[in-house]
Amino acid sequence: KSSRRFNFSAGPAMLPDLVLDKIVEELGDYEGLGMSILEMGHRDAGGPVQQVLQEATDCVRHLLRVPANYAVIWQQGGAHGQFAAVPLNLLGDKTQADYVDTGVWSKRAMNEAGKFCTTRICAEVRERQGKAEVPPVSEWDLSDKSAYVHICANDTISGVEFLEDPDVGDRLLVADFTSTLLSRPVNISRYAALYCSSGKNLGPAGVCLVIVRRDLLDMALPRTPMILHWKASADTSPVASLVNTPPVFAIYACGHVLKGLRRSFGDCGTLDTVRQRVTRRADDVYKIIDESEGFYINKVSSSYRSQTTICFTFGRDAANQREWAGSITAKVKLTELEEAFMKEAKERGMNGLEGHPAFGGIRICLYNGLPDKAVDEVLLLLQDFAVAFG
Ligand code: PMP
Repeated sequence: KSSRRFNFSAGPAMLPDLVLDKIVEELGDYEGLGMSILEMGHRDAGGPVQQVLQEATDCVRHLLRVPANYAVIWQQGGAHGQFAAVPLNLLGDKTQADYVDTGVWSKRAMNEAGKFCTTRICAEVRERQGKAEVPPVSEWDLSDKSAYVHICANDTISGVEFLEDPDVGDRLLVADFTSTLLSRPVNISRYAALYCSSGKNLGPAGVCLVIVRRDLLDMALPRTPMILHWKASADTSPVASLVNTPPVFAIYACGHVLKGLRRSFGDCGTLDTVRQRVTRRADDVYKIIDESEGFYINKVSSSYRSQTTICFTFGRDAANQREWAGSITAKVKLTELEEAFMKEAKERGMNGLEGHPAFGGIRICLYNGLPDKAVDEVLLLLQDFAVAFG
């Protein structure tokens, strides 16, 4: 729609027009039942809410090729809830967990887990020839005493992404996929559990998807709150995720996003097709950054460059010496170039290009709901801005 601004923010992200249209169309009267889905009970066995839940779950299973020995559940509390749920559900009789530190989100996950167990950083981002990279798994200092190893599949703030699923052998690998799920096929079998808070590729904020290996469901600590208890969620009947009143609207809207994705690539299509689009769009942005002769700088090595959350600064900018604000809720001061870039973007109908407030810089998020036309516009902006200010 012509009045729609392009939203490049880290989330909540743009939803496809078709999804928004469908929601508007159905809102007052869901499938001719004379009621809105928002007013319907989740305990109505086989009723619309349970069907919505089941369909969204089926789509996740289909799109991600989730093996049958994994449970798919929807919980509340966002990724922050899962930062606590992971140790509570997986520690078993151990009291320690390993974390790979690729940025603020890994640290936040680790700090929350630290309320329930001892946490250790088993690997962290290192700099090689001025570029950030993650050491190979063979160099991770994994401990036999640790119950699991946790990674953040895409750090939304630093723009460091695991483009392949690490192989940690028999150890339990857990991943926060919040800002990258549905951008590429995932080798689910490599993971003990993975979670994805909505608000990005999955749909509007309000629910967190968890995929967990079923044989691990008996490990939860007895003190695990029911709403974070994976087995309790997996075991409700006739469908999972009915421990308490589910966030119906969020799941319903995510369901439309998932169905749309499935439809657009056909039932035989896979996330390989999605990845081609994701990679093409990211490559186009990185190409301009790399060919800007240092006007734009991205400091991530090509094997770990985020395909969805692309961060950069201006080469000649003081921002490159800037310390981060020290807390995720604090704000750094933007440089003149950053302000000018954002102003130009706003005038051209583009929002949300500012980096995380605590870090500054520019961040271009290319989630699935962002139309190709928006990518064309941002490429043009990058080119024009480099000519005007370079
Ligand atoms: N992990 C990552 C990688 C994120 O990008 C975010 C949100 N930006 C979170 C966790 C937090 O998600 P929530 O606010 O739903 O807890």
